[in-house]
Amino acid sequence: MRAVRCRGPRQETLLRMLENTLHHAERPDDLIIYAGLAKAARNHDALSTTIRALRELDEDQTLVIQSGKPIGIFPSGPSAPLVLMATSNLIGRWATAEHFYELERRGLIMWGGYTAGDWQYIGSQGILQGTYQTLSAVADEHFGGSLAGRLVVTAGLGGMGGAQPLAAYMAGGVAICVEADPGRIARRIESGYLERATESLNEALAWADERLAGKAPASIGLLGNAAEALPAMRARGLVPDVVTDQTPAHDMRYYVPAGMTPGEAAELRASDPDELVRRALDSAAEHVRCMLDWQDAGAVVFEYGNNIRAQAASVGVDAFRIPIFMERYIRPLFCRGLGPFRWVAASGDPADIDVVDDIVTREFPDNPLAGRWVPLARKYVRQPEAPGLPARIGWLAHGERARLAVLVNEAVRRGDLRGPVAFTRDHLDAGGVSQPLRETENMPDGSDAISDWPLLNALLNAGSGADLVAIHAGGGGYAGYMQSAGVTAIADGATASTGRLSAVLTGDTGIGIMRYADAGYDTAADAVRRSGLRWFE
Ligand code: NAD
Repeated sequence: MRAVRCRGPRQETLLRMLENTLHHAERPDDLIIYAGLAKAARNHDALSTTIRALRELDEDQTLVIQSGKPIGIFPSGPSAPLVLMATSNLIGRWATAEHFYELERRGLIMWGGYTAGDWQYIGSQGILQGTYQTLSAVADEHFGGSLAGRLVVTAGLGGMGGAQPLAAYMAGGVAICVEADPGRIARRIESGYLERATESLNEALAWADERLAGKAPASIGLLGNAAEALPAMRARGLVPDVVTDQTPAHDMRYYVPAGMTPGEAAELRASDPDELVRRALDSAAEHVRCMLDWQDAGAVVFEYGNNIRAQAASVGVDAFRIPIFMERYIRPLFCRGLGPFRWVAASGDPADIDVVDDIVTREFPDNPLAGRWVPLARKYVRQPEAPGLPARIGWLAHGERARLAVLVNEAVRRGDLRGPVAFTRDHLDAGGVSQPLRETENMPDGSDAISDWPLLNALLNAGSGADLVAIHAGGGGYAGYMQSAGVTAIADGATASTGRLSAVLTGDTGIGIMRYADAGYDTAADAVRRSGLRWFE
């Protein structure tokens, strides 16, 4: 590992996770990592203080961070979290976009997204796997297991949406991704996530037809506005096979209205945000009407969690006829404790990720998700993706995550790796999130909006010895819509870390499967019974 600047390897690893998240920023000067406003630190002063605090932090102390600003360091204990965070949590009646923005303007709050505020972001690979997973589930359910010869139409090539073209390609499909900002298109071509781009709809469709005819995959960027390009496709009588969207519709201040460039939208955001939102809502309504028409014509259409249905519904569109991807394609996995799980090599050496990939391949041959994904990721994902740390995401189940972390901790101790490995669990996981219009929509017992679960998940993580635990709520347009929690646990090779890692990751997925079992899912109840955990059924 490079020179250690902190008082212990775990503190150093967390510092590198913070730096790594910043390396992936879509707008580094503003510390904005993705999704328009998801930040890794409140402001530059808060960032400098956080870095200093991590360098001064002892192993038996805990640094407390409130919405991206460090507050203080407290005595705790050797197995207590090194860092605790609470980000953009507002009291229920005050949890509105307007109130959030007022507090943000006064420098009192920030939004952390799911992985930015707690330094878990690993670049597009994280979302690449989730998107690939969703599209694979679509292929399994509707198209006999492959998207070969199928057209996927979507929009948004930003921090997360930028994974869509490669994910569709890996699932065998032909993707046309509409994006308003030529800079974002260039960035995805440069990273290898997008094959080619055009501003001509005719050209995009001709390229798509050619590949569809040969059942070969393709990823095509189309410079344009989703609220114009999709209706233009519809006007030609085209019905795609699969339609979704990753424009930043969670916050209408960032959705570019039809007829405007991103630069013009930014100017209007500064001068008259209400007018911008009004125009953006009109456009999103047209965008969603087109998605509904395609659904009625037989396309597989789903919302990918950007709240576009709620926005369109607010101006009278019958948008909730479109299903959410979580309930349909991901929840069956959550019921088995399967979800996104990442590991990051603090050494910066891609060979460390190879070692962990080998352990996964060897130890979990029966895990169909990791089994299919890891070889693909080795082929398509550059390591590291940005100047930051090499990392991998793999969907591992309850029990598998704890086992992997313990095996890796032993490998670090033996010197098979050049440095510690940070395991982070995305907020988008079985126990980690309540979001009634997304992850927890249509729970069988009606518990969609109960946010006790992610809060309990976080408390359990802290109690069982995680290194970083964060509780986030929605900010900006997501204010009032979500509560989530994230966790990081570090394999530093120390003997004491074995028990910590095992307890943290067993509890973490354990409470996830219990949450779904409690809601009434039989598959989750079976998973809990098999887990050997004590459950008051
Ligand atoms: P981002 O802000 O980084 O990028 C959004 C992109 O959309 C930008 O490149 C922007 O230029 C483009 N855009 C804006 N309006 C457009 C329009 N009308 N037509 C075409 N392009 C337009 O955001 P992101 O990080 O990529 O996330 C996008 C959305 O997807 C967010 O709402 C995010 O929360 C959601 N998302 C949810 C999940 C999930 O549920 N797990 C996963 C991924 C993304």
